[in-house]
Amino acid sequence: MKKISVVVPCYNEQDVLTTFYKETEKITATIDGYSFEYIFIDDGSKDDTLIILKGMASSYDNVKYISFTRNFGKEAGILAGLKNADGDYTIVMDADLQHPPVLFYKFIEGIENGYDCCAAYRTTRKGENKLRNVLSRFFYRINSRITELDMPHGAVDYRIMSRRMVDAICSLPEKQRFSKGIFSWVGFNTLWIPYENVERTMGSTKWNFRSLTKYAMDGIFSFTVKPLKILVIIGFIISFAAIVYAAFILIKTLALGIDAPGYASLMIMLLFLGGIIEISIGIVGEYIARMYNELKNRPVYITSESNIEKENNDEITDK
Ligand code: UDP
Ligand code: MG
Repeated sequence: MKKISVVVPCYNEQDVLTTFYKETEKITATIDGYSFEYIFIDDGSKDDTLIILKGMASSYDNVKYISFTRNFGKEAGILAGLKNADGDYTIVMDADLQHPPVLFYKFIEGIENGYDCCAAYRTTRKGENKLRNVLSRFFYRINSRITELDMPHGAVDYRIMSRRMVDAICSLPEKQRFSKGIFSWVGFNTLWIPYENVERTMGSTKWNFRSLTKYAMDGIFSFTVKPLKILVIIGFIISFAAIVYAAFILIKTLALGIDAPGYASLMIMLLFLGGIIEISIGIVGEYIARMYNELKNRPVYITSESNIEKENNDEITDK
């Protein structure tokens, strides 16, 4: 019998956990030939998530939990889950039932047909904030263009992966983890499975504009140095334009004499160049900040408790 580990990051999900477990078990009960285990990661929840998880763990044998000392973010939760998932296959999914468990059938079919990964993407986003939708579409377009990673718009962190893919993901030493990018960076053949967006009916979303912006920036700066190359090209274009304009002014001055006005053009150029320089320093700074954070080599998360006997901690390793 093959074993499937289901990794579920949870942050303040007290309202949904029991329903989540029941609904998912309804599906797994109909799947023969596989055993399922759950690894819930309590990502420093401030509500009763941990108490509920402990209750579930004492009632059901297939429930494991890891609790963090504080909120380390969903990416850290996913990593902790993957490190401790020992199934033949591993599923990563949200706790709020926005990732419909019925997709398990298609996941298992796909992975048994030789795919290393089957990943879900949303075909609709009904019930979601319009602005978030537009910005997200914009982000995925830019992101896939400059990082050259295969990430369709609507891709979510809901997928099944083979043992060797999970091992590959865990072997990456980086501390700032943008899972969607890592999933696609490790390669392996992925089957994309569409599904219709499900509105969150219980609990509330954990994202706000700020965290989404940070997420989007991570997606780009953790995966490509292309912004630096674009800066070099912009630098060349501006320098070339400057030479042409300088020649023009020189010739004009020699031919017609000194012409005092020029405040407007000077000002515009000053502001324009100032802006470009600021942006450039900012972009270089993004990379330096990432190097700084990696160099500190701090663990991605710290566990406070778990019912997994030999919990695979994210201990600090020498680089
Ligand atoms: N989550 C987490 N840590 C966080 C934020 C979110 O573990 O800091 C979990 C959350 O409990 C849920 C999943 O990540 O299981 C997705 O979060 P949410 O539903 O709020 O995001 P959305 O569906 O709005 O993108
Ligand atoms: Mg959700």
